[in-house]
Amino acid sequence: MKHSPDFAEIKAMDKADPLRAMRDQFILPEGVIYLDGNSLGAASAAVLQSLQEATQEWSQDLIKSWNKAGWFELPLVLGDRIGQLIGAARGQVVVCDTTSSNLYKVLHAALAMRPDRSVIVAEGGSFPTDLYVAEGVMSVLSGKSMRLEGVDAPDIESLIDESVAVVLINHVNYKTGELRDMAALTQKAHDAGALIIWDLCHSAGALPVHLDEAKADFAVGCTYKYLNGGPGAPAFIYAAQHLQGQIRQPLSGWWGHARPFAFEQTYDASAGIGQFLCGTQPILSIRALKGALSIWEQVDLQTVRQKSIALTDLFINLVEAKCADYGFELESNRNGQKRGSQVSFSHANSYEIMQALIARGVIGDFRAPSSMRFGFTPLYTSYEDVWQAVQVLEDVMKSGVWRDAQYAVRTAVT
Ligand SMILES: *Cc1c(COP(=O)(O)O)cnc(C)c1O
Repeated sequence: MKHSPDFAEIKAMDKADPLRAMRDQFILPEGVIYLDGNSLGAASAAVLQSLQEATQEWSQDLIKSWNKAGWFELPLVLGDRIGQLIGAARGQVVVCDTTSSNLYKVLHAALAMRPDRSVIVAEGGSFPTDLYVAEGVMSVLSGKSMRLEGVDAPDIESLIDESVAVVLINHVNYKTGELRDMAALTQKAHDAGALIIWDLCHSAGALPVHLDEAKADFAVGCTYKYLNGGPGAPAFIYAAQHLQGQIRQPLSGWWGHARPFAFEQTYDASAGIGQFLCGTQPILSIRALKGALSIWEQVDLQTVRQKSIALTDLFINLVEAKCADYGFELESNRNGQKRGSQVSFSHANSYEIMQALIARGVIGDFRAPSSMRFGFTPLYTSYEDVWQAVQVLEDVMKSGVWRDAQYAVRTAVT
């Protein structure tokens, strides 16, 4: 049987953790073990400081701040900063809008680059917005269709053939945490003449990503999960340098114009990654993101990844050792190399159990129909947090307190 560490060993793991000091930069409430950074990252002193500065810029310098505080350039400046975290050289990432609207832009643009092909390949188990957006794009282009992994075939590779224009794929599955092999799948798409779009929502800031090295075409992702940019923080788009001259995205607003302040009558797209901008960006949110990204200048993603695997391994180990009798089924890959920074267990009463955990200060989340998700964020999650969380889970199960009627009441956001 696998060795389960005791509390003294857990303490020793925290003591030896090279990221231990990072936790002090985050603001977490007393008595809370936060295992939901994969849905909304925690606040940090750097973000609050950034917001404070932004209020000064706005109130004191008013419209001058577009130039003086560099507001206008921030989408590209922060795009390059995110590029460093996802393996993208300069000039290929822009911060803007939401992941959903960015998906619309890149999917539409990618389809236009393969006009003689009609098929989009995606996952049946995709984060739903990706599929909803694909439906929306197909509704304005005639003759396109979608093939889904898990619906039309068991694996995505067998859906990719010469009729495929675009493969739209999640790097890490939002529900199970399954991690795809970016280089191999990109190669497979390219061998068939297709383009590939990677959704990095659950990998940016969670693990090292190598977009350039994998020769990816496009990527999108959000900044409010592992990058801790704040609720509704703007998303990003990556487009490989060599494609940028061929791209035409459909939301041709003035911020994507080559000369926005020439106020010309007709649209002339900017030649670079800036063409993915549409209109005026949410500067207060972008200013918050600037603070959040400054934290990443002090950390190495390999170290983050190592700790992430150790935290998730430990969680699986402890749940299986202490809660073996309660019917939890591991939905995530047992192999840490094939898992993002989360662990999911399924249970018929996942919703109620999660509510009982949250009431006791252990915050994870529920994903319909039966998943309990626990996100592990190496910058502010300790090994002791993992230990305590499993203690609380064991207690909730042993006592049966999750059966209390209050925990069955459904909230709008789960
Ligand atoms: C969180 C998430 C999104 C979110 O899209 P928004 O437009 O920011 O709401 C999209 N895709 C995936 C895979 C996600 O995990």
